[in-house]
Amino acid sequence: MFKRVLIANRGEIAQRIIRACRELDIETVCVYSTADKDAPYLRDADEAICIGPGPSKDSYLNISRIISAAEVTNADAIHPGYGFLSERAEFSEICRDCKIEFIGPSPEAMGKLGDKVEAKRYAKAAGVPVFPGSEGAIEEIEEAVEVANEIGYPVIIKAAAGGGGRGMRICRNEATLRANVGKAQQEALAAFGNGAVFIEKFLEHARHVEVQTIGDKHGNAIHLWERDCSMQRRHQKVIEEAPGPNIERKKIEKICESAAKLVKSAQYSGAATVEFLMDDKQNFYMLEVNTRVQVEHPVTEMITGVDIVKMSIMVAAGEKIPYKQKEIKVHGHAIECRICAEDHTKDFRPSAGLIENYRAPGGLGVRMDSHVCAGYRVPPNYDSMIGKLIVWGEDREAAIKRASRALHEFEVGPIKTTIPLHAELMNNTDFKKGGVDIHYLERWLKG
Ligand code: ADP
Repeated sequence: MFKRVLIANRGEIAQRIIRACRELDIETVCVYSTADKDAPYLRDADEAICIGPGPSKDSYLNISRIISAAEVTNADAIHPGYGFLSERAEFSEICRDCKIEFIGPSPEAMGKLGDKVEAKRYAKAAGVPVFPGSEGAIEEIEEAVEVANEIGYPVIIKAAAGGGGRGMRICRNEATLRANVGKAQQEALAAFGNGAVFIEKFLEHARHVEVQTIGDKHGNAIHLWERDCSMQRRHQKVIEEAPGPNIERKKIEKICESAAKLVKSAQYSGAATVEFLMDDKQNFYMLEVNTRVQVEHPVTEMITGVDIVKMSIMVAAGEKIPYKQKEIKVHGHAIECRICAEDHTKDFRPSAGLIENYRAPGGLGVRMDSHVCAGYRVPPNYDSMIGKLIVWGEDREAAIKRASRALHEFEVGPIKTTIPLHAELMNNTDFKKGGVDIHYLERWLKG
């Protein structure tokens, strides 16, 4: 097992990784930017080291500074968390060259599944259902038109290396498609350093359902069932839950099995999420594979009892997955509310600044994954998420009631947060029924 893990991240996920390491008797080194110098979790780490100023490119995205920090502090592994460098195959490769274990997939496995075009190829071979669309990247406009005529409009142009909901164009007819292929290629090259684009069928109404998987270095891979993350705004998830409500179990079982097979076929080690859209008839189509731990991993932990962050560290150290697939049982229902420092009544305007009052909810089945407290100043530099409230209940109804109760206790001020929005959503009849689609929240916000 590792002696010291360097955490190349910040905020709640840095806190989460410190917690996992401490329980595994692993020392931690936390890197931080000057904007995070007073963050409370730095005190929980065994060592904290400043790697530069606030802008991410000068600190959390600066590979040479992070590697130097790992070398001077004698860290034998790096956990990248999510975002920042977590999905950069180049970073995983540099770690390997420097003989520091990257807690995540090898650059080869990341290349196979992190690239949307490649991932689709592996998915097909593993029996994972994918969207109808182009076989690989589109070279010529005529090729795009041909594929679109075959699958029917609307179609969506996407970047092979895309992420964060960027670089996608929906085309409802041939004229728009012709006008957009070239633009999409240029945009993809500028944004992701890779101009490859592809097209696939665009689904108007869908739910976002994803499967948590984990693989080890001995060729084993299992799934930890699904999550529904359909409550979104601008492609950002707002509420996640597990299991997915009102999904035919036989269907989802097959999808989960295929996801584990996909990860296994790529000789992938570490946590990965296979994301799908599900249509009204409960047909599944793979969107992409996220080659890292996800923000919403706790809902899966709550229903399966598996510590995903610990497992990711253990498999990186060469241990075998200690579970057989059939031992992974679902117990109860979990819901996560992402709490952001934003004013949802003012178009989600960011609300950074000093937290003077902080009262976290508690009690049976309530988990807070957060790095903030009273006296903490939310820096304006980063993502606005200040924590995640995760609740567990015997069933979905009990979980919603518990979330509602916990949100009622939860106080953060004077900065604005999305707590009141979540409290409203827990009372929303459509959410309570289960199965809202990915555009529901935006429609509801427009009133
Ligand atoms: P990113 O890596 O940028 O997040 P994804 O492929 O995961 O890209 O897509 C992000 C979001 O875009 C999805 O959650 C969905 O809302 C929408 N989307 C992507 N592909 C399709 C599609 N074929 N049909 C309908 N919506 C889509």
